[in-house]
Amino acid sequence: MRFSKTIFSLGLFFCKPLKIKIMATQNNNQDMPNGHLHELFVDELRDILGAERQLLKGLKKLSTAAGSESLKTAFDTHYTQTEGQIERLKQVFSSIGLSARGKKCKAMEGLLEEADEIVESFQDQPEVLDAALISAAQKVEHYEIASYGCLVTYAKLMEHSEAKELLAATLAEEKDTDSLLTEIAMTEANTGAAV
Ligand code: FE
Ligand code: FE
Ligand code: FE
Repeated sequence: MRFSKTIFSLGLFFCKPLKIKIMATQNNNQDMPNGHLHELFVDELRDILGAERQLLKGLKKLSTAAGSESLKTAFDTHYTQTEGQIERLKQVFSSIGLSARGKKCKAMEGLLEEADEIVESFQDQPEVLDAALISAAQKVEHYEIASYGCLVTYAKLMEHSEAKELLAATLAEEKDTDSLLTEIAMTEANTGAAV
């Protein structure tokens, strides 16, 4: 009788810290402003980290396929920016006390598959290839703009000010890249001046 009582007390003793830990995690999310967005925020961060990593390979391919020097430079510059964006995302994770972990982004996988198809389809038409590459790259940028736009909003709503600044800096880079691609399309790629 006494023995089973002791076992029962020991069980309670060992279970207690675990219970407290679970409650603390829940309370943390509930205590922060708009804590109901926490899981979504983290999930979207993991998705975009995976997407940026997948994109590094894609940008190399786009740069190799590009005919015009300015388009090649634009892809190479964005490659370096993307490396910086990955570092920034790691900072975002650490600013909210989490280790950086990415997951496979299915959308980016599909967008890059389409980019591969485009390169294959227009490889023999250099006067069209650059325009096609810009189209593929802008679809990628728009996906990123949507993702970072939402992340900035979540960070603002949850008052993660450091994360908000970091994500807004990347959002600006993605928008600038998109504008630069439009500029190249208007001045070179769609006018027959390229190559
Ligand atoms: Fe990016
Ligand atoms: Fe995704
Ligand atoms: Fe980008």
